[in-house]
Amino acid sequence: MSLPAPVRPLLVLDLDETLWHGVRVPGGLKLSLRPHLAEFLTAVSTAYDLAIWTAATEDWMLEGLAGVQAATGFDLRERAFFLWHRERCTFRRDAEGQFAFFKPARKFKARWIRGRYPPERILVVDDRAENYACSYGHLVRVSEWCGEEGDDELQRLAPYLLSIAAEPNLRTLEKRGWRLKG
Ligand SMILES: [Mg+2]
Repeated sequence: MSLPAPVRPLLVLDLDETLWHGVRVPGGLKLSLRPHLAEFLTAVSTAYDLAIWTAATEDWMLEGLAGVQAATGFDLRERAFFLWHRERCTFRRDAEGQFAFFKPARKFKARWIRGRYPPERILVVDDRAENYACSYGHLVRVSEWCGEEGDDELQRLAPYLLSIAAEPNLRTLEKRGWRLKG
């Protein structure tokens, strides 16, 4: 008898310097999308459900996601299991004593989430490891992107994420060397 297939995993995406780089300009947001973003979203959504967790404000998030849809046709606002912004973060001192936003992954244990996605089936993609200081097990760290041309992080990340999607426990899987495995 074969084992039941694991539930479809949830991929929680950071936005700023992970999927895009945005600058506030008079009248709105000047958004640059990370190279290969459209292919990345299309590829990973075949194996993962998606969600957003950003430390930015709700307005910034929604404006940026509208820009992603306009440029790629991919509507994360419609597809995301949740859209979490600054108000879902905590604001406290970091290791250097400076106040900063953190993303407390204990929030994944909420009944409405864990009933569908147990914690071992949730990954986060973020350029700031400090955001998940209490829960590195979920993290796939990407490099910070500030608009450099020729960046291939998302192009390399997609096949890696697809290669591990069926792992029963994504939390305990060693992910720090992902660039060597993708
Ligand atoms: Mg970021």
